Amino acid sequence: MSYQLPDLPYHYNALEPHIDEQTMHIHHDKHHAAYIAKLNVALESNPSLEGKDLAECMKTVGSLGLSDSDKTAFINNGGGHLNHTLFWEIMGPAKQINEELHEKVKSTFGSVDSFKEELSNIAATHFGSGWAWLVDSAGELKIYSTANQDSPYLKGDTPVIGLDVWEHAYYLKYQNQRPEYIKAWWNVMKVL
Ligand code: MN
Repeated sequence: MSYQLPDLPYHYNALEPHIDEQTMHIHHDKHHAAYIAKLNVALESNPSLEGKDLAECMKTVGSLGLSDSDKTAFINNGGGHLNHTLFWEIMGPAKQINEELHEKVKSTFGSVDSFKEELSNIAATHFGSGWAWLVDSAGELKIYSTANQDSPYLKGDTPVIGLDVWEHAYYLKYQNQRPEYIKAWWNVMKVL
């Protein structure tokens, strides 16, 4: 079984003007597709992973018996696939509030606004490429960032909301203004 690029759940221009159509094309059709292609190469040389759940594999990546280079490829490209799949799903042109999450965010962070402020700060100050996350960590909501394509599953956490702060996610429209991208992104993050 090889992984395939999932279609975007909306049109490439659906997140305009906040996320531009060209960025969505390159981000989905080139970057996400490349992670999947490289993930499939890593899986070809490790047939024991065939048919296993990717997120579960990520949680136990140290005990899968992978060579160091395959392990790195798996973390980068399996993470790239998982991270982007969630990213497309939590965005959309119209709000689709997850009420349960909404309540839990309010009780954990005081208000949705303070949650947004905290995640935005983490995202804006993350050095280099990576992601800012809201995760479920053993039933508790937490915010942190990870480098590169490292998935929260590597720590045993379940990603709930992920904000891609790689330059490929915003550079065409926002250039070096990452905070402007982050501010705009909340308009298309649909679950809160
Ligand atoms: Mn990306």
